Amino acid sequence: MIRVGHGYDLHRLEPPPPAGAGQAFVLGGVRLDHERGPVGHSDGDALLHAITDAILGALGEPDIGQLFPDNDPRWKGAASEVFLAEAMRRMRTGGWELGNLDATVICERPKLAPHKSAIAARIANLLGVEPSVVNLKGKTHEGVDAVGEGRAIEVHAVVLLKRANG
Ligand code: MG
Repeated sequence: MIRVGHGYDLHRLEPPPPAGAGQAFVLGGVRLDHERGPVGHSDGDALLHAITDAILGALGEPDIGQLFPDNDPRWKGAASEVFLAEAMRRMRTGGWELGNLDATVICERPKLAPHKSAIAARIANLLGVEPSVVNLKGKTHEGVDAVGEGRAIEVHAVVLLKRANG
């Protein structure tokens, strides 16, 4: 009557063109000011990608890369909310609802703390759940490796699904 799912994502962070290929920094559907942004075929929202994969994983469905291939021009620059909406559609079709979501965002900068409640509220809104269902944690990578050097952002997400109306 319950299913657990885990999602993970990493995106490189680069300056905007012409110095790099960084896009606007969007995390959990919220635009943040930062001198670097994610490199990706879609908008590069690592948090929404990890949540999408966690839901798909709980359902035993194909993962985000299989459903939305990064060589498909339809998804170039796409808002990642589209991917999350499809995962939610499959979840509801299968008779499941979200029990809770817990995610950990790992990046050196920007600091997540000032934006955490806004991002959590946005995610709850996208998922159509109460804010208490969504928990976010922010960590640095202690200055080491690509994430610690500010060259990448990493996200882990875990969801629990329960039978709808159960
Ligand atoms: Mg991704």
